[in-house]
Amino acid sequence: MAAMVSDQKSALTLKGVSRSFGGIDAVVDVDLVVPSGERRALIGPNGAGKSTLFNLITGEISVDHGQICLYGQDLTEDPVQNRIQLGLGRTYQSSNLFMQMTVQENIFLAAWRRGERSSSKLRTLFRSWKKYPEQCSRAREVAALVGLAEKIDVTASELSHGEHRQLELGITLAHDPKILLLDEPMAGLSANERIFMTDLIMGLRSHITVVIIEHDIETAFRIAGQVSVLHQGRIIAEGSPAQVRANQGVQEIYTLSSETDGEGYA
Ligand code: ADP
Ligand code: MG
Repeated sequence: MAAMVSDQKSALTLKGVSRSFGGIDAVVDVDLVVPSGERRALIGPNGAGKSTLFNLITGEISVDHGQICLYGQDLTEDPVQNRIQLGLGRTYQSSNLFMQMTVQENIFLAAWRRGERSSSKLRTLFRSWKKYPEQCSRAREVAALVGLAEKIDVTASELSHGEHRQLELGITLAHDPKILLLDEPMAGLSANERIFMTDLIMGLRSHITVVIIEHDIETAFRIAGQVSVLHQGRIIAEGSPAQVRANQGVQEIYTLSSETDGEGYA
């Protein structure tokens, strides 16, 4: 366990993490160290294992082998909730909103669940939710943070796709995460929405450690200080955007991709 002491400054440390599904090796012997406050992009072909890696980090699925530490604390066997309490937050590739609820209600619920976990309270919540001034003001604060201050009372179903993504980010920020895992937050966004979301992510408070899976390699390179490239479950390259861009192995898999379908990379 002595080795863990030296990792305490890193927000996230993975050692030899592997996971297979039936015969498919989704994640193979991955080592990953993300220092506190870093912006890290995770890129690689469709099916490379990026989302699976996020699921392993959050604890939504368990590892076959290896170790996962947050701030030097081994959480490999811990449930999702323990990791959230240590400051881990994530967004999903597909939408996870309560569409019949307003922006404020969606964020409020997330903020409230952070403080209160009794399900009986949850049931009575929506009859009297405006009685929780702290969470209400936190919801307004977060809505402003993700550019939805004007839409606070709008029902989620009436928002644009870009605004859905902003709201998802807001819901995650309501938990005040220290480590944020963003799984393709720009998926399906228009060029303008993409610029807006890029600015939002780049403007996140600097103490928040961010790992972002991003399809568009130029966006990934712009946001991230460091980039890790996953291919067939393995990290095949890691470094600054310039180093990764110059890496021959990376160039090969990206050229291959554009020759086959031109899509499929994140
Ligand atoms: P990426 O996010 O990089 O596109 P994924 O992590 O979603 O890749 O998938 C990696 C591989 O693991 C793929 O071959 C995928 O089909 C497989 N996989 C992912 N999740 C599951 C699951 N729950 N059950 C079976 N196979 C899965
Ligand atoms: Mg994915």
